[in-house]
Amino acid sequence: MEKVKVLIIGSGPAGFTAAIYTSRANLSPVLYEGIEPGGQLTTTTEIENFPGYPEGITGTAMMEDLRKQALRFGADVRRGIITDIDLSKRPFKAVIDHEHEIEAEAVIVSTGASAKYLGLESEAKYRGMGVSACATCDGFFYRKKDVAVVGGGDTACEEATYLASICKKVYLIVRKNYLRASKAMQERVFNTPNIEVLFEHNTKEVLGDEYGVTGVRLVHTSGEERTIEVMGFFLAIGHNPNTEFLKGQLELDEQKYIKVVPGTSKTSVEGVFAAGDVKDPHYRQAITAAGSGCIAALDCERWLLAQ
Ligand code: NDP
Repeated sequence: MEKVKVLIIGSGPAGFTAAIYTSRANLSPVLYEGIEPGGQLTTTTEIENFPGYPEGITGTAMMEDLRKQALRFGADVRRGIITDIDLSKRPFKAVIDHEHEIEAEAVIVSTGASAKYLGLESEAKYRGMGVSACATCDGFFYRKKDVAVVGGGDTACEEATYLASICKKVYLIVRKNYLRASKAMQERVFNTPNIEVLFEHNTKEVLGDEYGVTGVRLVHTSGEERTIEVMGFFLAIGHNPNTEFLKGQLELDEQKYIKVVPGTSKTSVEGVFAAGDVKDPHYRQAITAAGSGCIAALDCERWLLAQ
């Protein structure tokens, strides 16, 4: 069986940063890229808020840069999905693509989270062309334009208020007749004059042309339909952390994010570290994920040294 010191699972900014640090520390990490090589950033358009790119960069180009940087220091970056893992004893054992087995002294989990989408064909068609699941990442492209946000939770309210500060008008599309968000968030929404909350509305279709989204067709619970003209359509209906493959072997919170010792990357299993969105329901930024990848690598290095 193949034996490695450090196994990194996931290829977003957290995984690649962990790979850069652990390879520079001579730990010869092996990184498996997972289902979506490059992670969520490869589904966004331009990234303008990652320090060090004054002109901005596309998500795909940034991930390619991070990958190259990890390779430069000798990280072994591989295609493959972890289909089984045993964290009950050390060395840890993982199965890749149902066939290849690997033993690892330490594991860094950086499998990220996946934004939920409504599942409409038209929504998929305009993804990256007006349809986005991250207002912080993409809101800026719709400055002074009309946009819509779907969802009634804290994220939706936060994103709607953020967008209201840069866009002309924000429609908040809520399927129930109330917001699930905290009272403070609700108040912020109701006190923002350029947010219009459309309660009891569901999205039937995202409309667009060759340049991107032009509007959204909505249906009220009464059956009445209406079309709103917007250039941006933001989903804020929750995220699913990619923790299913762990099959309950690490302690998770009630939303299924990996629990870590606050301020560290240490999970409930000694020798297993977590980084990025898979342990972070709040910030979910490329830069915070990269920072936590660095923390995981340093925690991992120190733990291995102490063994
Ligand atoms: P939530 O699960 O809290 O809310 C999801 C929202 O999306 C709900 O309003 C839900 O509607 C709606 N929704 C789900 N599926 C659909 C669908 N198919 N069509 C239309 N609407 C849909 O997720 P959040 O991301 O908002 O929050 C996750 C957690 O993070 C929460 O605990 C939240 O409090 C926390 N958070 C805290 C923040 C803060 O404190 N600053 C900021 C952001 C998040 P319905 O209500 O009908 O189920």
